[in-house]
Amino acid sequence: MYHYVREPEEWKGSVPISPKAFEEQINQLSKTHEFVLPDDLNKKTSKPKCILTFDDATKDQYEIAFDIMKRKGIPGYFTVMSGPLVEKEVPVFHLVHAALSLVEEEYLWDELRLQLTPKDLHNLDLANKTYAYEQSQLRRYIKYTLNFILDSKQSKNFLEKMVYSHFGSKQKFIDYMYINIEEFQKMKQAGMTLGVHCVHHTPFDGRAEEYYKNEIAPCAKFIQEQFDIKPAWYTPPFGGGEKKMLMMENLKDRLLSEGYKGAFTTDSGIIDDTSSFWFNRFDCNKIFTGDSIGLALENVQ
Ligand SMILES: [Zn+2]
Repeated sequence: MYHYVREPEEWKGSVPISPKAFEEQINQLSKTHEFVLPDDLNKKTSKPKCILTFDDATKDQYEIAFDIMKRKGIPGYFTVMSGPLVEKEVPVFHLVHAALSLVEEEYLWDELRLQLTPKDLHNLDLANKTYAYEQSQLRRYIKYTLNFILDSKQSKNFLEKMVYSHFGSKQKFIDYMYINIEEFQKMKQAGMTLGVHCVHHTPFDGRAEEYYKNEIAPCAKFIQEQFDIKPAWYTPPFGGGEKKMLMMENLKDRLLSEGYKGAFTTDSGIIDDTSSFWFNRFDCNKIFTGDSIGLALENVQ
């Protein structure tokens, strides 16, 4: 499971894998595994199979990951988030990543704290628990405030001004940030599988029919219209989020009835049953660190 494939120094809001580390991973994996597309999960291969999956359709996946894979003749599965391309709507978490990459933490926090009430400030303690993985105290506060204290409209308002003014306009940011239609077309021509990620990157809220109608069907329609593909693979945002179990239960039949063959979660592990609908993945950043690489590959086999 890959997200950003770009230099961590230039993109600080999240945890990208560097182009060099990405290439090393796939070189390593190709010694022990055969890379396949999701449609080839049941293909007979002499080595265990591996599917490279990409979430969020950020530009680096086209410019870096796809470029490397194309040169090496390696197939992969890329997912589409249609909101930014169709409605020009950027999800809050991407604006957070951009703001943290472009603006100094101190400045960001000075501006942000002005939006908070004394009660909000008191509640900031919770940020340390939620974002324990972040080393910097300020980053914990910033992320917690934007994702949990302010509502999405307030966060968007604050972040859009900051991020779009840096790029000159919203459209310029979208052009910088996301794979565009022509680029997806080239990926399709090169044999990559395109699947559905979402429209707005909203987590599953428990209402399967509504969710299908709002977050899945419009993205599938976009893929069908633009690339002449009826998508058969799905990757839920945030792996389904807090209501993951409900999602797995309630969304499966709807997706099956629309012709989907399977979906990729963020649960960690190998795929031991290719006839199941929800598939495990390995996070590229968690599995290949130091000693765990040997162990991980042993487990995969
Ligand atoms: Zn995502």
